[in-house]
Amino acid sequence: MRFPKFLRRFGRDIGIDLGTANTLVYVRERGIVVNEPSVVAVNTRTGQIIAVGEDAKKMVGKTPAHITATRPLVHGIISDFEVTEKMLRYFIEKVLGGSRSFLTRPRVVVGIPLEITEVERKAVEDAVLSAGAREVFLIEQPIAAALGARLPIEESVGTLVVDIGGGTTDIAVISLGGIVASRSLKAAGDELNRNIVAYVRDHFNLDLGERNAEIVKVRIGTAAPLEEPLEMPVRGRDIVTGLPKEVMVNDEQIREAMQRTVRAIADGVRAVLEVTPAELVSDIYERGMVLTGGGALLKGMDAVLAAATDVHVRVAEDPLTCVVRGTGMLLDDTDLLREVRVPSAQSNPATV
Ligand code: ADP
Ligand code: MG
Repeated sequence: MRFPKFLRRFGRDIGIDLGTANTLVYVRERGIVVNEPSVVAVNTRTGQIIAVGEDAKKMVGKTPAHITATRPLVHGIISDFEVTEKMLRYFIEKVLGGSRSFLTRPRVVVGIPLEITEVERKAVEDAVLSAGAREVFLIEQPIAAALGARLPIEESVGTLVVDIGGGTTDIAVISLGGIVASRSLKAAGDELNRNIVAYVRDHFNLDLGERNAEIVKVRIGTAAPLEEPLEMPVRGRDIVTGLPKEVMVNDEQIREAMQRTVRAIADGVRAVLEVTPAELVSDIYERGMVLTGGGALLKGMDAVLAAATDVHVRVAEDPLTCVVRGTGMLLDDTDLLREVRVPSAQSNPATV
């Protein structure tokens, strides 16, 4: 039986992955409806937002002086609250459309970065509430990522999730619905892009730009050697002559460029295993670790982590959407939501 339309609208609860690189929004019964870069272009003369998401990302590095295209989150930290709020409001309104009465306002579950302060937590809650939510629930991203990767987070077994995002790599051991040991590293996707920019500058006198570097990483970047070599042409500006130039780069060069960051991620995972209680470590040896986030797609990352830890590694299905799918699952499981939510920083917290 289908519900009458006005009743169905109660189901419009939403889950948000507030990522450094990408923001995703999941609407109950509809699935993922927003998947865009966390970038906002602002006119600094008027304070007006010019573009959000994909449109704003296209402007990065190409704006005149009075327009800034920025990421409101840096390394998982909210660097600009006002812009973060505007971005969240933009996405929430885009999803919900026109006017809403109190009854049809949604409950919102937001996946927040691991190392976020209480002030920042409150900032996210305020932003979501002022954007029209009835209630807001904050969830640590690794918990949401593990849920999205269909891991049994409520059981008393140790689960290791490594979420390699743009600004941070978050490594967490989860048991009984809570985080037992964790670490957040700046060694992540953006740093890999910067590695490539530096390498191409140093070896070819070529100024590439971070967006081009990201394309190189996705196309031919590898953490471990491949059977078949890859190469591609890259274009940029010659540092010496100032003129456009094209050079060929191959997977071996790019692997060398990224090596230090890849190593730092492997060291971080080992460091978390070292401080994890022995019983949980033996669970992890038995069950393996799971990689989520866009960086999980870097070819050979799984092999490098397996070699560094002796733990079996599985890349989650559709790793870029694990966190938002995890928030979506919580919209349907109120008991679990109550168990795993981060305590509210509001003076009158919402109750489930
Ligand atoms: P965040 O949670 O910080 O928003 P995401 O999980 O969305 O980050 O991942 C974004 C990162 O993943 C970016 O650094 C991007 O370059 C990287 N990425 C996406 N696809 C690939 C790929 N196929 N290979 C390597 N890196 C990738
Ligand atoms: Mg993420």
